[in-house]
Amino acid sequence: IQPDPTLELAIRTIVDYPKPGISFRDITTLLGDARAFRRAVDQLVQPYAGLKIDKVAGIEARGFILGGAVAHQISSGFVPIRKKGKLPHETVRIAYSLEYGIDEMEMHKDAIEPGEKVVVVDDLIATGGTAEAAIKLLQSIGAEVVAACFIIDLPDLQGAKKIEALGVPVHALMEFE
Ligand code: 5GP
Repeated sequence: IQPDPTLELAIRTIVDYPKPGISFRDITTLLGDARAFRRAVDQLVQPYAGLKIDKVAGIEARGFILGGAVAHQISSGFVPIRKKGKLPHETVRIAYSLEYGIDEMEMHKDAIEPGEKVVVVDDLIATGGTAEAAIKLLQSIGAEVVAACFIIDLPDLQGAKKIEALGVPVHALMEFE
């Protein structure tokens, strides 16, 4: 994917959020800009043109917004991967590490048929821990995870490398330090 400066300009950086020393990349400015949102979704789906993707799995919460749009555009189903305790039917669950402590995410056990091709979508990959957990959860119910895509990659944190080591290609529209 070629870098698109108009998309990079649509991202707002909030210094010292959520705590001192962190620069938070805020995608709400991109989502609120009709042209930028459309361009971002058009670019996110590009690698999957002509592939038969059965499901897009979006990671709560910003992955729902982007994943819904991506699923619509490639005519696939959408599957939410949620924080624990939010889904009403039988779930599979996985624990994963955050910067401080651990959290759990889950999805409906019957959301994917074994062998279905799935693309994971989130807004940003940092350490890759969140995406890794989502991929393992999907694989645990037999999904074939064909790729993971993001608006933003923070390559210094090597998350994309972690995901590619699982055999899952990573696509991101831009990088920030
Ligand atoms: P990781 O697990 O790769 O370290 O962190 C990625 C997760 O944290 C994603 O779900 C992403 O939404 C969230 N995240 C971490 N830092 C940022 C940031 O600067 N901006 C945004 N929009 N999300 C972030």
